[in-house]
Amino acid sequence: MYLIILGPPGAGKGTQSILVAEKLKLKHLSTGEILRQAVTDGTELGLKAKEVMDSGNLVSDDIMIGIVKDAISNEDAKKGFILDGFPRTLEQARELDKIMDSLGNDAIKVINLTLDDDELVRRMLGRGRKDDTEETIKNRLVVYKAQTAPVREHYGSKSAVFDIYGIGSINEINDNILAVLK
Ligand code: AMP
Repeated sequence: MYLIILGPPGAGKGTQSILVAEKLKLKHLSTGEILRQAVTDGTELGLKAKEVMDSGNLVSDDIMIGIVKDAISNEDAKKGFILDGFPRTLEQARELDKIMDSLGNDAIKVINLTLDDDELVRRMLGRGRKDDTEETIKNRLVVYKAQTAPVREHYGSKSAVFDIYGIGSINEINDNILAVLK
């Protein structure tokens, strides 16, 4: 099974993908986690990405597509994966289509986790991540609406897309996700 989890920052994509990955035995591929690890390790990628992440902007499509190609071609992702935080632009979505085609698999399923803006801001402020300052959070929402929201429409016509409202307990939302994937 190949899954994508879409949705605004703060909707719970990370939490839910970890649970879905565990339950369905999928590889959890979080581009945000890959970037944060690179920053911690002080690699060339980390040095390039740090400032962009701290401002709430997006790391370039070229870099992100390279990262995802590598991650997907890894042996442990072959049995299935859940992509968390990618694609975040239409360009990334189109490249992912090509990657999936080349793997001979275009049956990707999309979970779109939605939530109201005020709740997103509240959750992000409570999460205490370094890039969760008030100014960065505002910018991430602007960037999401301009660049990432159209990705939902990209998949609307070609893949199974399931819209899930992210209010409720972690387990309730997880049950709702697993139910639509059955
Ligand atoms: P996340 O953990 O998914 O919220 O990602 C944290 C930050 O990493 C984002 O605010 C972006 O700066 C960067 N990032 C993660 N995934 C992507 C992506 N697919 N495209 C561009 N930037 C990304």
